[in-house]
Amino acid sequence: MSLSHEYAETHEVFNQVPPLDGVNLYRIDLPLQEWLRRFGGDWAEARIDAYGALAGGPLMQAGFLANENRPVFKSHDRYGHRIDLVEFHPAYHELMRTAIEHGLPSLPWSDPRPGANVARAALTYLHSQAEAGSGCPLTMTFACVPALRLQPEIAERWLPKVLATSYDPRNVPMEQKSGVTIGMAMTEKQGGTDVRANTTRAYPVGIPGSGQAYELVGHKWFCSAPMCDAFLTLAYTDKGLSCFLLPRHRPDGTRNQFYVQRLKNKLGNWANASSEVEYRGALAWMVGEEGRGVPTIIEMVALTRFDCMVGSSSLMRQALTQAAHHCAHRKVGGRVLAEQPLMQNVLADLALESEAALALSMRMGRALDNLHDEQEDRFARLVTAVGKYWICKRAPEMIAEASECLGGAGYVEETILPRLYREAPVNSIWEGSGNVQCLDVLRALSKEPGVLDALFAELGDGHGDARLAAFIQRIKAGFADTDDIQYRARQLTEDVALALQAKLLLEAGNNTVSDAFIASRLAGGGRVYGTLPRGVDVEALVARATPHLI
Ligand SMILES: Cc1cc2nc3c(=O)[nH]c(=O)nc-3n(C[C@H](O)[C@H](O)[C@H](O)COP(=O)(O)OP(=O)(O)OC[C@H]3O[C@@H](n4cnc5c(N)ncnc54)[C@H](O)[C@@H]3O)c2cc1C
Repeated sequence: MSLSHEYAETHEVFNQVPPLDGVNLYRIDLPLQEWLRRFGGDWAEARIDAYGALAGGPLMQAGFLANENRPVFKSHDRYGHRIDLVEFHPAYHELMRTAIEHGLPSLPWSDPRPGANVARAALTYLHSQAEAGSGCPLTMTFACVPALRLQPEIAERWLPKVLATSYDPRNVPMEQKSGVTIGMAMTEKQGGTDVRANTTRAYPVGIPGSGQAYELVGHKWFCSAPMCDAFLTLAYTDKGLSCFLLPRHRPDGTRNQFYVQRLKNKLGNWANASSEVEYRGALAWMVGEEGRGVPTIIEMVALTRFDCMVGSSSLMRQALTQAAHHCAHRKVGGRVLAEQPLMQNVLADLALESEAALALSMRMGRALDNLHDEQEDRFARLVTAVGKYWICKRAPEMIAEASECLGGAGYVEETILPRLYREAPVNSIWEGSGNVQCLDVLRALSKEPGVLDALFAELGDGHGDARLAAFIQRIKAGFADTDDIQYRARQLTEDVALALQAKLLLEAGNNTVSDAFIASRLAGGGRVYGTLPRGVDVEALVARATPHLI
C-alpha cells in the first residue's frame, strides 16, 4: 500500500447518532397517544398512526426541500401580462396535497363526532413537525368555516370545495376546481392589532348589505399564502368595518383586481409565502352583518389561534424528539449524555414543557368538540387567549435549549433544529401578538359573563395538591385586585396557563409528570431549563420522551 492511499482515510466516523429518518412520529410519541385517547380522539387512531408514518418519512423530506427552495413571486409572464403568481417547489405541493387528502383542514366539519377536533389537532401536530409553513394555509382553510357560515348563500357555494379532500393548486376560477384554500387579510401598514385603523374602503356594486357585491380599494400589509382561492378581508363601508370574501377570480373567469406587490423576506416560515397586496377595485362579497366585520372575522381568528397553540406544541415536540434521541446515543467522556445528571435535568425539563403544551392544546380541542356545553364554550373563549399566549411564548426558548442539547450539530441546517427555531416566534406574533392575547384574557374575564366562574370551576380546589390549591388562591387574589391590572396581564395569564396545565397533568394521573411540573413551574417564573429541583424522577421523564426505534 502506498503512503498516499494510507493517508486518504483520515479517520473513522463514530459516536454519531443513528438517523431518525422514516420514524413514525405517532408511534414514538407516548404523550400524544395518551392525550389523544384521554380527550376522545382514539377512534381516529388508525389514520393518525398512518399520518405519523408520513410525517416522519416523506413529509419530513418534503419539509426540507420546501424550505430550501422558497416560493418565488412572478408578477408578469414573459409577454408582460400581469399574472401575480407565486411558484412553489413540488415538495410544498406534496405537503399541501397530503394534508388536505387526510382531512387536516376539514375533519371536524365533515365528520363532527366527539373527538374530531382532538383528532385533527393530533394530525396537525404531526404535520407541523415535518413542516410548519404549509400549516398556515391549511389552518386558515380549516378556520374560515364558522365565518363563512354566517353568510349561508356564500357558504353553500364555497364550503363544498373548502371541505373537499382534494388539493387543486391551479390558478383557475373556483368553479373549475375540485378543492380550494382560503386565506385571511386584515393587517394594514398603519395597524395590525388596531384593525379599526384600516383605510381600505368597500363600495357597493349594486344594493348594499350582507351577501352583496362590493369593490374594494386599499391594501394589506400582510397576506400569507396569496395563492389561496379567496380571502376573508376587512374594509370600511359607511356603516363601519365589514368582512368580505374576496376571490382570486371574478365570476366571468377573469382575474380579480387583487395585486401582489412583493413577498416578505421573513426570519423563518420559509415554505409559506407571505405577501403585501393591493385591491384596486377588487370584487368581494360581504360576509355577515355590515359594520360587524371584526366579530365576523374573529370567528376565524379564534380557530387560527387554537392552531397556533397546536403548532407551537408541535415544534416543541419535534425539538424534544431530536434532543432526546441525540442524547440517548451521544457519548461525552465515555458516557451517554442521557445518563448524565445535568443533561437529564435539561431533557426532563424540556419534556415537561412539551407535554404541558400538548395537554393544554388537546384540552382545548375537547372544548371545541363540546361548544354546545356552556362551560366548555366559556373555557374555549378564555383558553384560546391563555394558550395562544403561553404556549407560543414558551416555544422559541424551549427550542433553543433543545438545539443546544445537540451541541454544534443543533446549529446546523442539516438537522431540523435551526428551522424549528426560526419558525417558532411567528406563532406568537400573528393572529394577535402576546400582549394582545393577555389583554384579551382580561377582556374575557371582566366583560363576558360566566368566564371567570368557568375558569375557577375548571381549576377546582387544586385536585388534592396543596401547592396548586395555593397557586389558585394567588390567581384569585390577582384578579380580584384590579389596580394596574393591564400592567400585570402577562403575569396573570402565565399563572392561569400554569395552573391549567398543572391541573390537567394531575388529572391524567402520571404522578412523575405532574409532580415535577408543579414542583418546578408553580414555584416562580423566569426559569432556565435544566433547573428542576431535587427529587424529580428525571430518568422516567427522559424515558417517556425518548423515541424508541422500532
Ligand atoms: C410571517 C407573518 C405572516 C402574517 N400573515 C398575515 C396574514 O396572512 N394576514 C394578516 O392579516 N396578517 C398577517 N400577519 C400580520 C400579523 O397578524 C400582525 O403583524 C400582528 O397582528 C401585529 O400587528 P402589527 O404588526 O401591526 O403590530 P402592532 O399592532 O403595531 O403591535 C406591535 C406590538 O404592540 C403590542 N400591542 C398592541 N396593542 C397593545 C396594547 N394595547 N398594549 C400593549 N401592547 C400592545 C402587540 O402585542 C405587538 O407586540 C402576518 C405576520 C407575519 C409576521
